[in-house]
Amino acid sequence: MAMTKMVSLNPPASSALRGSSPFFFNGLLPFASSISRSSPQTTKVISLKASFQAKGPPNSPRGIGSVNGVNLKLRMGVMSQARRGFLSELRKMKEEEDFASELQYELPLKIVKYPDSRLRAKNKPINIFDEKLQRLADEMFDLMYKTDGVGLSAPQVGVNVQLMVFNPAGESGKGEEVILVNPEIYKYSKRKEVFTEGCLSFPEIYADVERPMSVKIEAWDVKGKKFILSLKEFNARIFQHEYDHLQRILFFERMHPDILETIRPALQDLEQKYEIRTGMPAPERVKGHI
Ligand SMILES: [Zn+2]
Repeated sequence: MAMTKMVSLNPPASSALRGSSPFFFNGLLPFASSISRSSPQTTKVISLKASFQAKGPPNSPRGIGSVNGVNLKLRMGVMSQARRGFLSELRKMKEEEDFASELQYELPLKIVKYPDSRLRAKNKPINIFDEKLQRLADEMFDLMYKTDGVGLSAPQVGVNVQLMVFNPAGESGKGEEVILVNPEIYKYSKRKEVFTEGCLSFPEIYADVERPMSVKIEAWDVKGKKFILSLKEFNARIFQHEYDHLQRILFFERMHPDILETIRPALQDLEQKYEIRTGMPAPERVKGHI
């Protein structure tokens, strides 16, 4: 069930959409111009509608094909074209809203721990590839190494954007550092394997999770270049765990119910610690026995 959910989050259309976005946002089609272009079309739709409603359905000898002597088909054509234009402008505006605005984070970064609500907040795609993004990735690597991690996602440092970093060696200067922006999985292997995972947002908790052995992904690098990548074994494992974070899925939700039972007290302990630390009720609690 979880796999189906993940696949459905990655329709090819949305990847294509993202593909064109950096050009869109580098100023070739500024936001202001898309608003001004929509205005005359909006007016046209309204005025045509009004004239049609005032006259009612035409029943003159010249028949259904005309209103005030003007061919209705033509008018309808203009109207639907205008409406289409208007709708596509609305869609563009919506897409713009869906992107992350300028990155905001405070240094030094800190690990956000379960059940902090930032682990469940929507992670917006990134379309500004600047020094601030590079700095965030660098700081995430530093924090990851300090905390003995091999992968870290932006929501885990309280920044709700589509960014992850990982290095299977888990040590600065060793292995390979990978930074992925707006990653999407487009293929999973059928073969799965069980592996014991931990998560920096769940200190001291380790348990088995089953996942596909390999994945094919597409993503942007930190400079804004799109690429595809095949990942297998440990790399695929780390990626999928971090990718889940970007989809607001936490690793205990991937566990077999029997496995989940073994870590339930530890999860509840984290919920209690959160309440003591913040003086607020836990935003979520691990669900009851299944
Ligand atoms: Zn994690």
